[in-house]
Amino acid sequence: GAMRHLPYFCRGEVVKGFGRGSKELGIPTANFSEQVVESFPSDIPTGIYYGWACVGNGDVHKMVLSIGWNPFYKNIKKSVETHIIHTFKEDFYGEVLSIVITGYIRPEKNFDSLDALISAIQEDIEEAKRQLDLPEHLKLKEDNFFHLPEGKIVNNR
Ligand code: ADP
Ligand code: MG
Repeated sequence: GAMRHLPYFCRGEVVKGFGRGSKELGIPTANFSEQVVESFPSDIPTGIYYGWACVGNGDVHKMVLSIGWNPFYKNIKKSVETHIIHTFKEDFYGEVLSIVITGYIRPEKNFDSLDALISAIQEDIEEAKRQLDLPEHLKLKEDNFFHLPEGKIVNNR
């Protein structure tokens, strides 16, 4: 399952997504480039994960992440999208996003309504916040990965 790939370290540029309107829902998701997504293990399960994230040399924040099928490419390519649990003053397209994925919440699901989708995501966020306060997850917030010069460790190497 998902666990054998974790913790998973990844760094890459934030690119324009395909305008699902995540921001309009109050849940913007920073999308990684196709190249970064392709460097993920091909057998990592799709679904909702959590972990830590940092933009450029900024602070490390809690995040929830979705690995899913990208409708823009007719669902033949995966997309990896990070919602950072923090309010930013500005967008950060083009900046380097560093993440460590530490846990798995649930598989991808379909929802009957937008309200059902939004409340599921809010539950995911609450679950992520609780889990990330546990010592085994909290310790990764302090990982050297977030303090090393850009590019030193990319995609788990
Ligand atoms: P797109 O389809 O281009 O990914 P989104 O509606 O998902 O558009 O918004 C994502 C963008 O919002 C990110 O690329 C980033 O620049 C910005 N953003 C602002 N706050 C956050 C946040 N807390 N988490 C993720 N992205 C954020
Ligand atoms: Mg997005």
